[in-house]
Amino acid sequence: MIKVGFIGLGQMGRPMARNLVQGGHTVQVHDTDTAAMAALADHGAIVCASVADCAAGVDVLITMLPNGDVVKAVLFDEGGAADALPDGAWIVDMSTVHPLASDGIAKEATARGFTFVDAPVGRTSDHAEKGQLLVLAGTDEAGVAHLAPLFDCMGSETVVTGAAGLGIRVKIINNYMSIALNALSAEAAALCEAIDLPLDTAMKVMSGTPAGNGHFTTTWPGKVLKGDLSPAFMIDLAHKDIGIALDLANQMHLPMPMGSAAREQFSAARAAGRGRQDWSAILEQVRASGGLPHH
Ligand code: NAD
Repeated sequence: MIKVGFIGLGQMGRPMARNLVQGGHTVQVHDTDTAAMAALADHGAIVCASVADCAAGVDVLITMLPNGDVVKAVLFDEGGAADALPDGAWIVDMSTVHPLASDGIAKEATARGFTFVDAPVGRTSDHAEKGQLLVLAGTDEAGVAHLAPLFDCMGSETVVTGAAGLGIRVKIINNYMSIALNALSAEAAALCEAIDLPLDTAMKVMSGTPAGNGHFTTTWPGKVLKGDLSPAFMIDLAHKDIGIALDLANQMHLPMPMGSAAREQFSAARAAGRGRQDWSAILEQVRASGGLPHH
């Protein structure tokens, strides 16, 4: 059993800390909200009046806080957690923070003799309640093995990313895609409604196409990711089709900012001479526009 300090007992942290207690670990907790701490005391956690008290004597200190500035302050402000944490302890930040802020925190923690792991989580507070989070561990197999007794109490799946910083990076990219796709899906659903296409019908069709399944696992592996840009479906045709949808939306007085931005990417690809390349070549177009090296 591991002696754990847990700072940040909000929507996520409260059930996560409770699941650690229920997993048999000794858990000392802290939050600026005393009511949140009292709720944990009822479950058998040790309540600490300060972040330093919470860090004292623990093997692993977990933070589940709103952002990187708060994590940094809690750990490194004078009289903060790092001042009380035993030499060689592990700091595991499970919050969602800016990756560059996480890198800075990792550097400072490492310089002070701690092992730092970014281990943000996927899914929601409902999953946190049930111990079914997805843990994205910014460490290697050995690091995950060390932390598995804790991760397994809080989550049902741990992804070993292999190196420090990769957990928070994959978390942010995952959220970027799913948030942008949420807005794009809303545009598509609103257009369905405007043109009297039942959403059920659209959903049925799209659950079997790249629209519903995403391009990472459908169109890209056999084409652009292999360096094959010969057209299965060409950029020129994709540009035509998205233009038709946008024109339709325009006639329905429906603004489509996500789709318009996508159309501009395809316009730029055509201008760059990619019109007859496969539509997955949009990846190469976006890479080139960001100055990333030619493959
Ligand atoms: P929350 O606002 O409910 O909880 C944050 C907790 O931190 C609060 O209890 C607050 O009192 C405490 N806190 C703030 N400053 C503090 C300080 N200086 N010292 C001690 N405690 C302090 O937020 P949440 O939903 O639990 O999210 C926590 C983190 O997890 C965030 O980084 C969030 O982005 C991430 N996350 C949330 C979800 C979700 O579904 N809610 C899912 C995945 C990841």
